[in-house]
Parts: sequence; structure tokens; C-alpha cells
Amino acid sequence: MSGLSTPSALLQASPAIVVGSGLAGLSAASQLIFHHVPVVMLDRAPKPGGNSIKASSGINGAPTRFQPCDTEDTAFYTDTVVSAGRPLSSSTSTERLRREQLIATLTQSSPSAVYWLTDDNAIDLSKVAQLGGHSHPRTHRGAGKKPPGSAIITTLLDSLTRDPLFELRTQAKVTKVLREADEVTGVEYKSPGTDPNATTRLSGPVVFATGGFAGDAQGMMMRYRPDLAGLPSTNDAREGSQPLLEQVGAAVVDMDQVQVHPTGFVDPADPAAPVKFLAAEALRGEGGILLLEDGKRFANELGNREQVTNALMKAASRLETPTRQWEVTLLLDEGAATALAAHLEFYVWKGLMRKTTVGELGKTGCQTVCQTVQEYADAAAGRTEDAFGRKAFGNWSLGDVQSDSVVYVGKVTPVTHFTMGGVVFNEYSQVLDQSGGVIRGLWAAGEVTGGLHGQNRLGGSSLLECVVFGRIAGNAAAAFHQKHYKTVP
Ligand SMILES: Cc1cc2nc3c(=O)[nH]c(=O)nc-3n(C[C@H](O)[C@H](O)[C@H](O)COP(=O)(O)OP(=O)(O)OC[C@H]3O[C@@H](n4cnc5c(N)ncnc54)[C@H](O)[C@@H]3O)c2cc1C
Repeated sequence: MSGLSTPSALLQASPAIVVGSGLAGLSAASQLIFHHVPVVMLDRAPKPGGNSIKASSGINGAPTRFQPCDTEDTAFYTDTVVSAGRPLSSSTSTERLRREQLIATLTQSSPSAVYWLTDDNAIDLSKVAQLGGHSHPRTHRGAGKKPPGSAIITTLLDSLTRDPLFELRTQAKVTKVLREADEVTGVEYKSPGTDPNATTRLSGPVVFATGGFAGDAQGMMMRYRPDLAGLPSTNDAREGSQPLLEQVGAAVVDMDQVQVHPTGFVDPADPAAPVKFLAAEALRGEGGILLLEDGKRFANELGNREQVTNALMKAASRLETPTRQWEVTLLLDEGAATALAAHLEFYVWKGLMRKTTVGELGKTGCQTVCQTVQEYADAAAGRTEDAFGRKAFGNWSLGDVQSDSVVYVGKVTPVTHFTMGGVVFNEYSQVLDQSGGVIRGLWAAGEVTGGLHGQNRLGGSSLLECVVFGRIAGNAAAAFHQKHYKTVP
């Protein structure tokens, strides 16, 4: 990748430090290596990939050559602003400018982010779906069996680990960020070993890419959103890391903005499990609908996550489980299921979805369910307007609903999924302090940052922010490293 001939000499120089091996960290590291800067990547987990490796719906980009239409114009920017809601619209003019600049950078850089993955890294992202809150199909995934998160992470990681300038240290938990005067100069981390108090120091510019805190149920979630305590989550259980950056002066924002995803699978084998598999939004994007116990729909399934979650919690009855759960049925026809064949195969294999017929659903036989599905099929075929205002129907193909019409179903419930809040940063991925000043030597990207998504992140925009701001951080850290750290002969 780097093409330099003296890697061992280079590795002796102070490396750039990337904390976190999810997509934001890998994107930053790839750029550092591209600029011939040696990288040490630290991750507290035994295996790399973070929550990024689980991503199942895809990455946004607009306009791209993979989209079915090219009528995007500025719609992606507008959708993101609308989705960001009050935290954006009610902020001071300086703060509003910062947030709008972040959204402009995210959306305008989205085609190049997708092409960096497809063209420079040979990752297939040729299938495009429309997710909730989007006015156009723009969420890219591969046509094959591998989910997008796994495809992207394994490819980038493979490429990095083949480069002699790159070193990954797993089970290395960063416990302190080091700051001297106005500059971050490195980190301290702990590894499993004989002395639990021993730490290792590493000097160099730091890119922080440590993800969000949805999996920190008893710590940061309890502190910022005690009302969400008890909800199951899709995230790995781990502490949030923003406090490490606050200790060196970073400001945080929107910490109470937590995304609850409307559809986490309820596993019939372990219905009350606190960590749940995500029922990817693409399942609804490709045509899936949500049904209450009485067989009726209750919302436009492609409303944004907040809208669908609120409607679900209001319409469905709560279950008597130790975790706070509601339960509705996710239903796909064969058209939607075929478009997501690889996902379906996995979910059916896991016992999270099953193949059945419309007639076998509902306590009253086909009656209500058949009627509900027929009304939806009519709207999908353009024969009527959808009762909930849904305009996109993905690959739904069932037209004439009979009791033996084949469908795929699974039970789903809302789950904490993503934390919009995090450290304050700007469009150059620089971390800002309370007065808006830049903390030198430190960059952040991905879910650890805050403010970009406001009150609601659009599906597919998190992988995108990881690539866009991760790459910006990598480029900036490389320039800083070349200027301020030991240059190698
Ligand atoms: C099931 C699921 C499906 C999703 N699907 C999509 C999707 O289809 N599209 C989309 O855009 N988004 C999706 N998301 C959201 C998206 O995957 C994440 O928001 C994004 O990947 C976060 O990437 P990241 O690099 O910021 O953090 P992560 O990928 O979470 O990586 C952070 C890493 O930092 C490490 N770390 C944390 N603290 C420390 C520390 N103190 N020291 C050392 N290491 C540390 C962690 O171990 C972890 O490996 C999904 C999320 C989940 C959970």
C-alpha cells in the first residue's frame, strides 16, 4: 500500500495513533498509510471491527452511478437537515453554521466515499435501497451474501494488515489521553497482563474513533437517558469513551439524543435477551410492513426511526419481560424477501424469521391480515393511495393476496441503537473545546462525535460519516505528523 522500502525504520518513528478499529478508525488509518505515516491502532476488544462490522443495511451516497435515478440534486442534504430537527433548528447561529457545515461535508463527500470503497477498495456496493426518512433510494450494499459492514471492514482490515507501516494492538484499552499545554501528545493504555494497574504510553498525534455509548447501559446511558434504561440494545456492551476526551478539554453535545431503532429481533429461543440482532431497516425498505397483534398496520414503515418507534410504542402493548419490550410482526412478501435473499437466509437460519402463509397469521385466520396485506399490495401496485402515506414499496411484488400467499415473518421490538451525541467537532474532524477552540494533535470521527445528526440519524449515514470524517481525520493527522513528528530518513 505505501510502497516505501524501509518500513522498519519508519516504525521506529513516533506513529500516529488511531484508537478504535471500527470503520472510522480503519478509514483514518488507511489515509495515514496512504501518506506513508506509520500507524498503531489500539482497540480494547479482542477482535477488531467494533459495531461497524455488524452493519447490515448499507452506506449512503448521492448521487452515485449505482442509484436507480439521478434526480437527487440537494435532496440528501435537505433530508438530513429535516431529520436533525430541533437541535439544529434551535441552535445559536454559530452552532447552526457548524452543524450545517458538517451536514454539507457529509452529503457532498458521499459519492467519493462510496467510490473510495467500490473503486479503490473493490468492495461491491451495487445494490441500492431506500431507507426511512430518505426521499430517494441511496443506501448502498453488495449484491452478494456478505452484509455491508462485514464486507467493508474485512476488506479494509486485510489491506491494512498487509502493510508493514500498520500495527493493530487488540485488548489495548485506552485509559487516558495525554495533553501537554494546548496539544494532545499521545495516550496511555492497558493490556491484559500480570499487573492490572500497569499502563503503556504511546506518543503521537491521536485520532479517536471509539464509537458510541448505546451499549453502556448502566453507565452513560443511565446518566444521560435514564428513561431508556432497560431497553434491549443492538450494540456491544461496553463503556462509552467520550469522558476520556472531556478530560483533555473536549466539549460534548446532544448527549441525550439516543436513537431507538424500531426493529430489533425478538428471538423466540431467548425473548428477553438484552442484546438483540438488528432487523435491518432494508427489510422495510425493500417492502416489509409492520403488523400489530390484531393484524393491522399502524404507521408508514418508512417514516424515520423516531417516528416509527414512537408509533409502535403507542400502538402495541408492552410485554411482561425483564427487558422493556413491545412486540409487532415484521412481514415481507416473496418479492421483498428475494431482494434480501442473503439477509433472509441468515435470519431464517438463526430462527429469527420464518416462512409461512398469510392464512396462518393472526388469531382470526386470514381475515384481518389478508385485508391489511391486500390494502398494502394495492397501494404498492399504484391502485390506491397508502393509508399511512407510504410512497415507496421496494421490491414488494404480491398483488393478489390469498390465504396461501407465501410471506416471511418475525417478531420485532424497539432497541437502543445509536447515540447521536458525542464530542464537538468541525468539518476538518478537529475536536473542539468549550469555547470552540481547536485541540491540537487530536481528531475524532464516527459515532464518538456529536451534533452531525441532531435528534435523528438517517439509516446508512453512520457508515458514511465514518468514511467521510475518518478519511478527513487521517489526512489531517498525516499532515500534522509530517510537520511535527520525527521525519524518517
Ligand atoms: C447491528 C447494527 C447494524 C447497523 N447497521 C448500520 C447500517 O447498515 N448503516 C449505517 O450507516 N450504520 C449502521 N449501524 C451503525 C454503525 O454501524 C455504527 O454507528 C458505526 O459503525 C460506528 O463506527 P465507529 O467506527 O464510530 O465505531 P465502532 O465500529 O463501534 O468501533 C469503535 C471501536 O472502538 C473500540 N474502543 C472503544 N473504546 C475504546 C477504548 N477506550 N480503548 C480502545 N478501544 C476502544 C471498540 O472496542 C470498537 O472496536 C449499525 C449498528 C449496529 C449495532
